[in-house]
Amino acid sequence: PAAKTSNFLRQVIERDLEQGTYAGRHWNGAPGDAAFQKAGPSDPAKIRTRFPPEPNGYLHVGHAKSICLNFGLARDYQGICHLRFDDTNPEKEEQEYVDGIKDAVQWLGFSWDALGTKHLYQASDYFDFMYRAAEYLVEAGHAYVDEQTPEEMRANRGDFGRPGVDSPFRSRSIEENLQRLREMRDGKLADGAAVLRAKIDMASPNINLRDPTIYRIKHAEHHNTGNKWCIYPMYTFAHPIEDALENITHSICTLEFEDQRPFYDWLLDRLAEGGLINTPHPRQYEFARLNLTYVVTSKRKLKQLVDQKHVAGWDDPRMPTIVGLRRRGYTPQALQLFAERIGVSKADSWIDYSILEGALRDDLDPKAARAMAVLEPVKMVITNWDELMGAGRLEPCSAPVHPHFPERGKREFMFGRELWVERTDYEETPPKGFFRLFPGNKVRMKYGYVIECVGATKDASGAVTEIQAKLVPDTKSGTPGADAVKVKGNITWVGVADGVKAEVRLYDRLFSVPQPGAGEKDFLEELNPDSLKVVTAYVEPSLGKAKGDEKFQFERHGYFVADRKDHGDKPVFNRVTGLKDSWGK
Ligand code: ATP
Ligand code: MG
Ligand code: MG
Repeated sequence: PAAKTSNFLRQVIERDLEQGTYAGRHWNGAPGDAAFQKAGPSDPAKIRTRFPPEPNGYLHVGHAKSICLNFGLARDYQGICHLRFDDTNPEKEEQEYVDGIKDAVQWLGFSWDALGTKHLYQASDYFDFMYRAAEYLVEAGHAYVDEQTPEEMRANRGDFGRPGVDSPFRSRSIEENLQRLREMRDGKLADGAAVLRAKIDMASPNINLRDPTIYRIKHAEHHNTGNKWCIYPMYTFAHPIEDALENITHSICTLEFEDQRPFYDWLLDRLAEGGLINTPHPRQYEFARLNLTYVVTSKRKLKQLVDQKHVAGWDDPRMPTIVGLRRRGYTPQALQLFAERIGVSKADSWIDYSILEGALRDDLDPKAARAMAVLEPVKMVITNWDELMGAGRLEPCSAPVHPHFPERGKREFMFGRELWVERTDYEETPPKGFFRLFPGNKVRMKYGYVIECVGATKDASGAVTEIQAKLVPDTKSGTPGADAVKVKGNITWVGVADGVKAEVRLYDRLFSVPQPGAGEKDFLEELNPDSLKVVTAYVEPSLGKAKGDEKFQFERHGYFVADRKDHGDKPVFNRVTGLKDSWGK
């Protein structure tokens, strides 16, 4: 497990635990309208956090940060993290996304199952309570039904330098407000004809406190509540209530909600005065959202990539979605390590993609079995093989599964007259410092013999079709005297006799600029046209037994994974990442 570094959230939690801020609160089990009562046993969880996605898309790497943060804090401080579907918006939500989100949280290594209860909630279950809270606010003189047009409302809200203007409906009587609110609820008013607003302060320097809208009319069917409601709560009203009903202690969100915090507190203070919620009520804390270079972390933009078929789907291995990263070969441990390394801060910044890849390499390096693969194969023929070794002879060679863990055993493969080598390993006229294959040069075929390159055959276009070489006898790796012949080059290869043909998908960054869409151009114009190259490779026989999702280090090439979906009778490998960081270049 990654080392835990302190941060401002940990400090807040430690202070609350020390002072017993939430120690006396009670817990009535699964919250809901009927379940809420003031008496009950004290909360067995020391803290409660929540991860509250809206089920309108698949989760991305930014959500992974939030999941690791919220579930990680609950784990570390004997608390519970709730998974809550924030489904207060009747449109755009789908079961497919609900299932995808649950899957992502579990795959990342977290569970909402704690103390014998499943802490899996959906905000729409609280609609009854939310409406009751709205009526309470009206009755207490803290809310009113406004029937200005949306344009009037916008104009009267004012802006930074200019205070707002009171709505003519602001001074309605409580009775009239209540009656109008009930008419809204009962479907007597059309969409947009009226809204319920909190009555706070139209001159507040914080525009979010200038009588924010808390309920709007929307004659729309909801996937959970069907046609029961034609008014729906605004997110800023719903969210604090969801937190309060679930006994959340630390409600952690991204910085864009900082200006909403005063309303969060205002609302919960009013509901606490009315005895509608537990006290002390939850507190909101903000941290900087994750921005990762060379990708986009916005569900809306990711959905656009999928809908417009710029990628093959939400789980395309180039996507920064959790399903995409998983298919690319990322591990839950790598994402947890990444989240721990980037930490949490209060300042917005861009995290370099190389940090994500670095965490992956650090996780895979000790785990991944090694293997040889030739990605751009050209045949090399050992012209003196039959004469020296005998026609048709194959010589067994072996290499450790992992160089640092001999106990993991060896891989076996055959050296023979014909070998596959990388096209880029041959140069007719070698540039300075090139130690690989060129006429007259001796190199070691890794784990095999030293050979001397003789030359190559080319086709009409000048492309090499075959390389010829001669075996240098008595140089087999691991045999006495094998090192007598000194060479500078060490070449990876796969035997033609036992090599396995495989499709290899060479993924590269999805966008060609570090901050897609940040400048003049639309983010779609900044897609990297070369983000996927598919090659037919030859891989060593041990890879013929690879299982879907198994990860390997292809020597010299980087980390690869057997594709979760497509790997089968026909082997398919995805490049996860190279061996070294190449993002700075
Ligand atoms: P997007 O902006 O991509 O549509 P969202 O914020 O609307 O995402 P939600 O489903 O509302 O997505 O998010 C669930 C939780 O994940 C929220 O608490 C939100 O703060 C957090 N979250 C979303 N994006 C990021 C990010 N880039 N970095 C960290 N946390 C994030
Ligand atoms: Mg959202
Ligand atoms: Mg958002």
